[in-house]
Amino acid sequence: MAFAIGIDFGTTNSLCSWLDGNKPSLIPNSRGERYTPSVVAVSSSGQVLVGESAKNQAILNPESTVSGIKRLLGTEGRLSLGGRPWRVEELVSFVLGSLRKDAERYLEREVGAAVITAPAHFSERERRALVEAGSIAGLEILRVVNEPTAAAVARSWSRPSPEGEGRRTVLVYDFGGGTFDVTVLAQTGRECRVLASRGDGRLGGADLDAELCRLAVSVFRRDFGLEPESDRILAQTLADAAERAKIELSEREEATIGIPFAVVGAVNGRGGRVVNPSLTVTRAMFEKIASPYVERSLRLAELALEEAGIEASAIDSLVLSGGSSRMPLVRRRIQERLGLKAEGRISPAEIVVLGAAAWTGIISGSERLKVVDVVSRTYGVEIDGGLFVPLILKNSPVPASKSRMFTTVADNQDSVEIHVLQGESREAALDLSLGRFLLTGVQAARKGKPRIRVDFGIDESDILHVGAVDLDTGKAQAISIADLGRGPGDEGSEELLRKTTSLADRLFALRDGLVLERGLEAELDELCDRAEAAAREPTAEVELRMLKAELESLVGELLARGGERKKR
Ligand code: AMP
Repeated sequence: MAFAIGIDFGTTNSLCSWLDGNKPSLIPNSRGERYTPSVVAVSSSGQVLVGESAKNQAILNPESTVSGIKRLLGTEGRLSLGGRPWRVEELVSFVLGSLRKDAERYLEREVGAAVITAPAHFSERERRALVEAGSIAGLEILRVVNEPTAAAVARSWSRPSPEGEGRRTVLVYDFGGGTFDVTVLAQTGRECRVLASRGDGRLGGADLDAELCRLAVSVFRRDFGLEPESDRILAQTLADAAERAKIELSEREEATIGIPFAVVGAVNGRGGRVVNPSLTVTRAMFEKIASPYVERSLRLAELALEEAGIEASAIDSLVLSGGSSRMPLVRRRIQERLGLKAEGRISPAEIVVLGAAAWTGIISGSERLKVVDVVSRTYGVEIDGGLFVPLILKNSPVPASKSRMFTTVADNQDSVEIHVLQGESREAALDLSLGRFLLTGVQAARKGKPRIRVDFGIDESDILHVGAVDLDTGKAQAISIADLGRGPGDEGSEELLRKTTSLADRLFALRDGLVLERGLEAELDELCDRAEAAAREPTAEVELRMLKAELESLVGELLARGGERKKR
């Protein structure tokens, strides 16, 4: 087996690790830093920049720089960077390839494989895209491990339960840059078993940066006439300043968002006057803004506990993971609402990638820990009448498998189509279509006669595999994916804008009748505002794609909520 590293591909930053002897350890990048920004840029000469170098030139070259690309995983279509269209997987592969090269330089050996982490709620498509990006980067992805489970593994590694000790329950609260996950696990001796997991793909530190930005923009516009919305460089400078202030507020009671030497009133880049706007934000002000987002995360934690059938008071350890869980508000509210105090042994920002390194040892057999994770979504098929029949249920232990018999509905029918979906609603239209699998080469026979068994399996990376066998002939059936359920890939800017606008309309319609938390409500408004702004003024394709992906994901969330409500 090729030498394997651990990778945490984050929305904001990515990290890399290895098993040094039997100790999970971080691998610094070529600059000696632990974090590599998950940013990619392509210059007009075609040179690809990754990490800090890409981030540093983002202000000057926003059109050809992409950050937050994790949020685009699993979407089709291409992003135009440096005058060339790129698939999302290709862009992600640049980040993974850069981590691989840094690891090879540091370890002085070839690296050909990786265990990569992903948010627990990541869909089938997002996982597949990650595996493909790894393969483009020359890495065989041995396993896609759920981030909270990786954090739990790192914790078990740092404090193994003695053999024979009773069951300990662990709650992992993973609040990153763009995603939130919460997982409840039981650890017994050297076995870790996931009991339930919940997550939100649009809840992360970036939302808090955006809130702070909005606050600063309103003040700077009023007092200085600044218009960051029409000035990309200003907008990026402000976004960076807001994130720095947010991080500062985890340590101090006050922080300043400042834009030194901003120019207002310039015409075509000429004239104008220089101003130095700055805004002091206190921790109390920030916590008021952040509170709805933290409450949303706590609600998900309560739902995960409910699904696991465990009272918060019965949790033995709380493990915090992800940069955003460093906020004092997070620790305080978890303690107030759930009565839990965090363990502080491993840094929240590094615990996931250390778990990925430990996992390389689990796979090679050098780590004796056994981990049983669960399926993140319910998988099933559509049957007559548009109904969704669940086959593999959410929270079933992985690997999981289930078989179902299919037959023909017409005489001499030589193929059968199976529509595979992922979701929680009984109405197939409300679930996510994964693909239409076509069984071909069915023997000529009267309708209803052929007996074809279709086997659905979820592997340990939570990826779906479908196989089929004709029970009368014993022959394996050919299965092809007729439709991946994704939108057409190469829509131009106009088409992209049309879809974005119609998604925003759909969001509005779906919102009707649903009671949403304040944080989610604010996010919905913000997305719709951005869609409106995009319809009014020219918007870079990168941003349009990002917006479309965010809208799709929120539409999916509201559809699921509508579906859950109908089920009750
Ligand atoms: P991760 O995805 O785990 O790398 O988390 C990155 C997110 O954590 C970004 O939104 C950062 O701004 C945020 N972050 C990092 N450190 C802190 C901190 N000390 N306080 C608040 N947020 C932080």
